[in-house]
Amino acid sequence: DAAPLGSSVISLVNRLQDIFSRVGSHSAIDLPQVAVVGSQSSGKSSVLEALVGRDFLPRGNEICTRRPLVLQLVRTEPSQDEFGEFLHLPGRKFHDFSQIRSEIQAETDREAGGNKGVSDKQIRLKIFSPNVLDITLVDLPGITKVPVGDQPSDIEARIRTMIMSYIKTPTCLILAVTAANSDLANSDALQMAGIADPDGNRTIGVITKLDIMDRGTDARNLLLGKVISLRLGYVGVVNRSQEDILMNRSIKDALVAEEKFFRSHPIYSGLADSCGVPQLAKKLNKILAQHIKAVLPGLRARISASLVTLAKEHASYGEITESKACAGQGALLLNILSKYCDAFSSMVEGKNEEMS
Ligand code: GDP
Ligand code: MG
Repeated sequence: DAAPLGSSVISLVNRLQDIFSRVGSHSAIDLPQVAVVGSQSSGKSSVLEALVGRDFLPRGNEICTRRPLVLQLVRTEPSQDEFGEFLHLPGRKFHDFSQIRSEIQAETDREAGGNKGVSDKQIRLKIFSPNVLDITLVDLPGITKVPVGDQPSDIEARIRTMIMSYIKTPTCLILAVTAANSDLANSDALQMAGIADPDGNRTIGVITKLDIMDRGTDARNLLLGKVISLRLGYVGVVNRSQEDILMNRSIKDALVAEEKFFRSHPIYSGLADSCGVPQLAKKLNKILAQHIKAVLPGLRARISASLVTLAKEHASYGEITESKACAGQGALLLNILSKYCDAFSSMVEGKNEEMS
């Protein structure tokens, strides 16, 4: 199955992330997440959407992703319906995914303007669904070379800095997206991933647009890592084309078409392990689970340290009667953190299920 370590570990991390962002200290703990990097229009948003299995991200052949979108996928019980909720609109449930896309666009415009401007201020969105893995994904603006619209002349450097601020974190898994019809040797994605993760411990190569390569060429050597090797390997995918988007082709149909493309292809049918969105999801979940397991001890130490700080604050609040509300909040947080700390330590001490 797709969640070998148990989604419990990952949803714990997601909940912790929420708690820390609510108390305004989300940078206090570096939590594992997955970020996509690559050139503009390489297919980053399309890949994320396919992983989620729903249509909700702005996509297209010009700049669409103009603010980092932090997307927390939360797996729910099979009987529940899917909905999204934005951090900036608490309590409002979006059941219509096309409205999620409109809200991302509107919220992008609010911060970055309507004319292709880019901002590093996050949009945070949660998707609750029985059909997702528990993963936090970050959709990032693509690398672009020539400023257009309201973009400043140093747009490329700014976007690189923004991307780097996510992928340099040692706990960030990097999906380095490169279109198969572009020159891999000049891949912005692999170049940036190589700087952020020189040992290649947390970079997965994703090759998109296998369907529109030049006639007579294929990505076999690429996918096998014979062109640029990557420890965690590559997965090739086929997303919807711009025409598919204009014709409102559903993601379900696209996944069926992708499966057919790979199954009937003389070369890719022999490379089943490295082809298709479902393989990418599987690979990601496995790596993420292993990764979380590896970072748990450090995370626990840091949570304990925050606990000590909070306990001290709590003690000092206790002496001032007017600060009862603050003390209550501190105690609550302390309480929540203690619970997480316990949960993490029992996992670190090996009570978790075996990896498959
Ligand atoms: P991003 O800028 O990297 O987020 O790229 P998008 O996901 O917005 O995709 C850019 C354009 O490429 C859109 O028109 C997509 O329909 C198209 N596209 C993405 N992936 C593929 C693919 O695998 N095959 C084809 N034919 N088109 C794709
Ligand atoms: Mg995009």
